[in-house]
Amino acid sequence: MPNGKMKWIRGGRIVTATEDFTGDILVRDEKIVAMGQDLKAMALGAEEVPAAGLLVFPGGIDAHTHLDLPFMGTSSSDDFQTGTIAAAAGGTTSIIDFAIQSQGKSMKDALNVWHEKAAGKAVIDYAFHMAVTDLNERTMTEIPGIIEGGITSFKCFMAYKGALMVDDGQLFRLMQMVKKLGGIVTLHAENAELIESLVPQFLKEGKTAPVYHELAHTAIGEGEATNRAISLSRAAGHPTYIVHLTCDEALHHVKDSLTRHRHPVFAETCPQYLLLDREYYERPGFEGAKWIMSPPLRTKGDQEVLWAALRDGFIQTIATDHCPFDFHTQKQMGKDNFAKIPNGAPGIENRMNLMYTYGVLQNRISLNRFVQILCTNPAKIFGMYPQKGTLAPGADADIVLFDPNVENTISVKTSKHRCDYSAFEGFKTKGAPVGVLGRGEWLFKDGKAVAPKGWGKFVKRARFSGTSEMVR
Ligand SMILES: [Zn+2]
Repeated sequence: MPNGKMKWIRGGRIVTATEDFTGDILVRDEKIVAMGQDLKAMALGAEEVPAAGLLVFPGGIDAHTHLDLPFMGTSSSDDFQTGTIAAAAGGTTSIIDFAIQSQGKSMKDALNVWHEKAAGKAVIDYAFHMAVTDLNERTMTEIPGIIEGGITSFKCFMAYKGALMVDDGQLFRLMQMVKKLGGIVTLHAENAELIESLVPQFLKEGKTAPVYHELAHTAIGEGEATNRAISLSRAAGHPTYIVHLTCDEALHHVKDSLTRHRHPVFAETCPQYLLLDREYYERPGFEGAKWIMSPPLRTKGDQEVLWAALRDGFIQTIATDHCPFDFHTQKQMGKDNFAKIPNGAPGIENRMNLMYTYGVLQNRISLNRFVQILCTNPAKIFGMYPQKGTLAPGADADIVLFDPNVENTISVKTSKHRCDYSAFEGFKTKGAPVGVLGRGEWLFKDGKAVAPKGWGKFVKRARFSGTSEMVR
């Protein structure tokens, strides 16, 4: 038998985006080396991992997180260590975080800072989107090098005017440029002018409570910006990816692009937009601040539309937009002014059980579709496939053993994230990861985080090669 650490995952129900069968997986060192029925003969000397009665999924990929992010005068409360431990416990073995360029500085500077935040701390693999906030002749020249370095997706903000926002011309030119070089532009789509008009009007009228955040960040504004983003993408003749899409107003334009214009657009949504609604902002006192995020929670009607779109292929990925701030300290910065409440909420460890419980078990999405939107599609769209996002010989041994019978109630008391509340407090879940491997190493086992510190590695991603086949 060749040398190397082996694990024999035996008799589990193996589920990928396209397959579903009972069998074994053999892992050697960091890779899957074989998959099939009864691999006993090959497994001599391997650590045996009994998986009968368990579902076996590829490790989840969360393509939207903000760990250790300086924002609105504070920093998100999870760093790359605490945040990725929580991710692993929830069945996520890779994240794509955002390296955010500071205005007046280079993109390279931002990347150096984010590499430093993650290296030696992250316990799961990580990649970065390059968030571009200052696009000019000089910074444009950096882009070929950024893509060469394995950062093949870019993010722009159509909101946060004067802080992070880029204008339509900059956005269009960036799309044209990355099209040539093999990248993709992802977008936070909200109409900045509407927000910047409504916020001061509310404040002037003494309307300072959390609910006014939602009233300033309208679904109409999100729809308008989504349409504009897609129009620029069509003009550039290159696909785009809409991050955290929340509502029918925005989804409408994605559907229109895919069906009427046959122009590929990818859309991502998050568990909070599927399961929580705007009534959370009307909770007594200041509690609504816990769910202040942009875009905000929408209506129950929007939730149903998003679920249908996940099923029908108009939305391709689920991410968390994990961006936690402590309620008792950080969120209080906006006690007298909703516009000063740091935007974001925790969610990195709840993606898989929530989507299994409320998606698969409620027959809103199939088990294969569940794997596709949590694992495979993010890997394909963002250049990590087939190294990640599926179970196959040659792929990284990122594997989730999922017990479909475990029942839990989500609570901050049992959460591994570093934040003083859970956005999903009290939610009942059925099914949970009981063992998680990242590149063949145990990250989470029997309820305990056991990942070696700093086990996570930077993932250099391939160039964007998305086709419309991938869209649906
Ligand atoms: Zn975000």
